[in-house]
Amino acid sequence: MSEQRIALLELIDKIEHMGQFQDRIDFPATIGQIWEVFLEDVRSLIEIEVCALFVVDDNSHEFILEYVEPDDRKKICRQEVDYQIECGIFSWIINRRQPALIPALAFEDGKSIVMLPLSTIKRTLGVVMIKTPIKESFITQENIKLLTMLAKQYSLVLENTLLYERLKRKHKSLEKANGEIRLLSRKDSLTGCYNRGYLNEHLQHEIKRASRYHHPLSVALCDLDHFKRVNDTFGHLCGDMVLKEFVQHILSLIRSDMDWLARYGGEEFLLVLPETSYKNASRLAERLRKQIAKKNFSWEGQEVSITVSFGITGIDKNATWEDLSSEDLIEMADQYLYDAKNSGRNKVVRGSFAPDQLAKNDKNKK
Ligand code: GH3
Ligand code: MG
Ligand code: MG
Repeated sequence: MSEQRIALLELIDKIEHMGQFQDRIDFPATIGQIWEVFLEDVRSLIEIEVCALFVVDDNSHEFILEYVEPDDRKKICRQEVDYQIECGIFSWIINRRQPALIPALAFEDGKSIVMLPLSTIKRTLGVVMIKTPIKESFITQENIKLLTMLAKQYSLVLENTLLYERLKRKHKSLEKANGEIRLLSRKDSLTGCYNRGYLNEHLQHEIKRASRYHHPLSVALCDLDHFKRVNDTFGHLCGDMVLKEFVQHILSLIRSDMDWLARYGGEEFLLVLPETSYKNASRLAERLRKQIAKKNFSWEGQEVSITVSFGITGIDKNATWEDLSSEDLIEMADQYLYDAKNSGRNKVVRGSFAPDQLAKNDKNKK
């Protein structure tokens, strides 16, 4: 085979190889991953001393240095581009959308660099700067043509990847915003604990779970005593502050990973205690009651104190209560709360869940 023929076959091989650039990438790929594949292809065409990728930033439209090979040549690459921008070569290359062999301005050895603009029909994506130890006169038109082909292929893949990453970012921030909205819609706006909507949705799940796995579950309905007096004496804003601080205080004293608190009504809250028998729940409530009674809620220099009453009930671990409704469980706790209020307030009253004793089944009660 003649030398010319061998060279021609080699050229065809290279062209074919460049044309298959996309096939060498596992999608979805990151910008870094496709840069590695691109670098390898560049190396198969020309010896590299430094190779840098600048990508156009979506917001500032500036060329941002993304990758440099080797990594320690970042500074000089930035400097090179700055010089080129200053003397107008850079914009000439970008506008021309064609590779160019130009004298290096920042690199000291006086050699040339190859600039490969990266663009698609729609837009300019960036530019690749290649510094090669090969003398300018030895860089053939053939090399430049192959690099041009490669840059075209790379641009297409880069555009898709940039688009994909942007969509992923948008999707993430949308998901985050949705999550925040979902959370807000479950929280009470004044106190920050869960609201009635959350309670209605989740207490039933807790009952089902406890029943299925034979775990105990308790609820404590708490109502601030004579709260109307707080409003009447110190004003509604002070009442709001007391409600907020009351909730914060309770939250700081319960297990944050399991127990949860919801605002049931104005100054009434439901504490849900999974894995807790009603006897243990009443011990906890007793502790909470004492803590609240000795707490000083200060308002405009004045001491405000409150007390709270608890009504507690629960299902024990051996019972099967799959059909128990959350309303019935709360109703039972409410009856014990009623007893706590009637026996002088600032009290904890507890009792097992007894469906036959529910007020709605007993017309004589209440
Ligand atoms: P009891 O010991 O029987 O529970 O007496 P109470 O005064 O706490 O009960 P009552 O039901 O008579 O009054 C509840 C008060 O709670 C009246 C209402 O204005 C107040 N309240 C309810 N929600 C809020 C709120 O969001 N902010 C303020 N400041 N007050 C509230
Ligand atoms: Mg009250
Ligand atoms: Mg009340």
